Amino acid sequence: MKVLSIIAGVLLTAGAGAASAADIAIVRAGRLLAIPGEPVTTEQSIVIRDGRVEAVLPGFVDAGAANAGDDDTVVVHDLKDYFVLPGLIDGHVHITSENNPRARLQRVEMSEADHAIAGAGFARKTLMAGFTTVRDVGARSRDAIFALRDGIARGDILGPRIFASGSTISVTGGHGDGTQGYRDDVAHLLHSTGVCDGVGDCRRAVREQVRSGADHIKLTATAGVLSNTAAGLEQQFFEDELKAIMDSAHAMDRRVTAHAHGVQGINAALKAGVDAIEHGTYLNNESIRLFKRTGAFLVPTLLAGATVVEWAEDPTSFLLPPQRAKALQVGPQMHDMAKRAHEGGVKIAFGTDSGVSRHGDNAREFELLVSAGMTPAEAIHAATVNGAANLGKSDVLGTIEPAKYGDLVAVSGDPLADVSELMDVDFVMKEGVAYKTP
Ligand SMILES: [Zn+2]
Repeated sequence: MKVLSIIAGVLLTAGAGAASAADIAIVRAGRLLAIPGEPVTTEQSIVIRDGRVEAVLPGFVDAGAANAGDDDTVVVHDLKDYFVLPGLIDGHVHITSENNPRARLQRVEMSEADHAIAGAGFARKTLMAGFTTVRDVGARSRDAIFALRDGIARGDILGPRIFASGSTISVTGGHGDGTQGYRDDVAHLLHSTGVCDGVGDCRRAVREQVRSGADHIKLTATAGVLSNTAAGLEQQFFEDELKAIMDSAHAMDRRVTAHAHGVQGINAALKAGVDAIEHGTYLNNESIRLFKRTGAFLVPTLLAGATVVEWAEDPTSFLLPPQRAKALQVGPQMHDMAKRAHEGGVKIAFGTDSGVSRHGDNAREFELLVSAGMTPAEAIHAATVNGAANLGKSDVLGTIEPAKYGDLVAVSGDPLADVSELMDVDFVMKEGVAYKTP
């Protein structure tokens, strides 16, 4: 048995490509929230073998407790003065891009490879912010997001575990059709395989994403803020198209999530059997009933609302007139929406829409959820237990328990007392490998 380190502060991995998993990691946690929703315990040791949690033991154990063989390597992380919790899950990101004043021009300047490389930078920031798993819900470049996901999984580059939808399923001219406002001979370069009209075409669009490697399906049930169309915020897919998307995705064992602002679109998507609603801006009491009946999650993305309002109120910002009008309409609604949904008993999963806001700022969503009436404990539950369930991955993610991935983060203060502690995580581990240490 080789014991590599028994002090905090040793950075085991220098950077991209250098991550080599210790066979066994032991994390001594001063305070431990192993299962959000259950009480915090003190002075615990988490034993992680080959990336998976093997045991959570009382007390601060030493390397001998790991039952290591002669060739095994044991790394001990001493976090006696820290609060340890499961790795955070962001259920709504666009990790291959980030909004900026040149974004519309970049769409015709940047290649697939450029998007993948840019995504590698955003992925690194996201992981270092404590988010060990993200759900990408629509990439400009389908090749780039799948390459990024697979490169991280292989260990070629550093980033969170990614579950990706590929291209967004959208009606022609709808929120996920990125050709709006470009001249026709340029627009065809930006054509997406996710754009579809009518039942047969929508089945085709879903199946193309699955064929290309999509882990789940994202559709835009209504219009959206940042599409360059003065088309309101209401329903875009018709009921038969929604049903075709759900049926084709579920038949291939893919969960479906729907971007939706307007209430008709929210309720139509819920009735069609969607597994989650992104944004949910104008949801009403009928929506709340439907959420509870179907068990669908709501991903409120309050950070997106706050971000677009900041831009819209700045006359020098780069928003186009239809975007500015919709931003001012939607942003202020979202806070109240999250409050009503939470009070109504809707299951909430944490999601930021990072890519609209800056990658790495994901934890700002915690403060916004708390300002909308959630307790810090509920907000953390949304980013762990519910985040895993929303991905359909509760068997391996969301808590620190035997057989789950050894994904955890630590902060110096108590995030249950002050959730803003999560804005500055001191320790990040993914599958037993520490990427950030105090
Ligand atoms: Zn989004």
